[in-house]
Amino acid sequence: MPQVKAKGSIILEILIIVLIGVLVYTIYDPAMKIRAEEELRKVCRFRMKNIRQAELRYFDEYSRYTGNIDSLIAFIKAKNLPDSLFFSTATEKFNPDSLRRCPKLNQPYIIGADSLGKYYWVECPYGHGMIGSKEKPEDVNKVSWE
Ligand SMILES: [Zn+2]
Repeated sequence: MPQVKAKGSIILEILIIVLIGVLVYTIYDPAMKIRAEEELRKVCRFRMKNIRQAELRYFDEYSRYTGNIDSLIAFIKAKNLPDSLFFSTATEKFNPDSLRRCPKLNQPYIIGADSLGKYYWVECPYGHGMIGSKEKPEDVNKVSWE
């Protein structure tokens, strides 16, 4: 008889451990997802700020903005612009080729400039923010999230 009782308590103990595991997972998993999303947003915004840094140098050189990501990356490489001009994060060191896309699912940025190159805009396709605006030329170089 005592053995039967022990078996029942072992099953109960295992059940309790499994339930605690489920509970811990349901609490920590969403928190980890939120942290991962925050990190992606941070990296994305640094990339857009780096586009702005490059656009400002491009403007110094040609007296116009480009709004063409290929031209901008080629410019960074051709001029050998120093990494110290650009932002890096703990998880991502500056790399000109990273400027094409938001790190979340790697969709390309929406980027452009007016025909005279007086202003440009860059926008994250996932709503992480934008710099400049197609509709508001006066917002050139203005960051939407600061
Ligand atoms: Zn983004």
